[in-house]
Amino acid sequence: MRTFQFQIPPKTKSLLTKVGQLADERGEAAYAVGGFVRDLFLRRPGMDIDITVEGDGLTFAEKLAKLTGSEVEAFTQFGTSIVVIPGFGKVDVATARTESYEKPGALPKVEKSGIVQDLYRRDFTINAMALSLTPGYFLKLLDPFGGLEDLKKGRVRALHEKSFIDDPTRIFRAVRFEQRFKTRIEEKTQKWLLEAVKGDYIQKVSGERLRNELRLIFQEPHPERAVLRLEELGVLPRIHPALGVPLEAKKALPQIDAAIGFFRRNQITLEEEKMVWFQALLSNPSVHEAESLSKRLMLSRPEQKIVTQCATVHPAIYGELSGEGVMVSRMYKLLCPLKSEIQCFLMAAAPTPVLRQKLAGYFSKIQKSKPWIRGRDLQAMGIAPGFRYSFILLEALNAQLDGKFKNRKETLEWVKKTFVA
Ligand code: ATP
Repeated sequence: MRTFQFQIPPKTKSLLTKVGQLADERGEAAYAVGGFVRDLFLRRPGMDIDITVEGDGLTFAEKLAKLTGSEVEAFTQFGTSIVVIPGFGKVDVATARTESYEKPGALPKVEKSGIVQDLYRRDFTINAMALSLTPGYFLKLLDPFGGLEDLKKGRVRALHEKSFIDDPTRIFRAVRFEQRFKTRIEEKTQKWLLEAVKGDYIQKVSGERLRNELRLIFQEPHPERAVLRLEELGVLPRIHPALGVPLEAKKALPQIDAAIGFFRRNQITLEEEKMVWFQALLSNPSVHEAESLSKRLMLSRPEQKIVTQCATVHPAIYGELSGEGVMVSRMYKLLCPLKSEIQCFLMAAAPTPVLRQKLAGYFSKIQKSKPWIRGRDLQAMGIAPGFRYSFILLEALNAQLDGKFKNRKETLEWVKKTFVA
């Protein structure tokens, strides 16, 4: 076991010391494991700590919560707990365990074990290192599968040949880590990964888990790289035939981040920001395919709405929007019915920089312009409430957007002249 000089924030070090001492007093051994250890070597220590206990993780978590004055939430069927430590963060505590998979893609059967077997059940060698917290062995590295070497060489390496078959969500994790750390999926691992892709094992994973993996990819700093890699590895159509990255979407990928940033700066709400990215995966689906995809991925209602509406947007929209002298009111008519996530993707995927600029100008103008007149103005003029209201207000707004009226006064005069006898 080797010891390393890590740059660990004092608060974290003191907590790890406490964890090690508590385990020792209980006749158990505790280890920091997984992403926390990996990130220490990468000099980007995270705030979330994963602890594995050789012993009884559930009771250990309760004692740790008591010792630190924290709340604890236990998941007894998995032998895991979350301790939320005030002023610090989240500590996941688990009992060391082995896992066996009865069916590919299903959740595993778990049994108590020692730390090495616990590390062996993990996804990649870089995530299968542990730091002992036992006093006397504090921060000594346990690295039975060569994770540190792989981390140094920039390799994402699975622990065994059946890894992606046991749990195909690791396909997405491999791509995510590869792109995040600018590493490479190791050759044999890629072969195993491709075998699982071609063997259609992704089909066995629940929609909820797949949706979660895609969400995690969209939360990475550069989702575009992972999206292209998933496409290259042939993963997307194995999730659903309506997925793939068409050429136009490939061109849009480098612009998506900037388009989201533009919407944020202009305070245009994107309730489902990740769905802007998701549209890059849509391979021009029909409405029927969009619905079946939504079902497969168990998308939420707002997400479903975006995917279905996206399928109704005709590619000819760009022709219409870029036409010479197209009025703002016309752009409004075409774009206003679309969800803001679709508007944002349309801007990112605009076929020319000129059109992208034009759309940017339109969105910031629309965002800033409030209608000069409202229903209550019509009421004040004695116009009887009814369906005419929406017609008059839309006409007034169109004229305002196209610059036909200069101000509220001119608009009110026009309404009076046109609609009040
Ligand atoms: P991130 O930085 O994205 O949170 P992480 O490595 O901390 O990455 P988690 O999803 O929090 O990832 O998982 C914690 C640890 O649990 C991983 O480092 C890995 O050892 C293990 N793990 C997570 N998911 C799997 C999986 N599908 N198969 C095997 N091991 C897994």
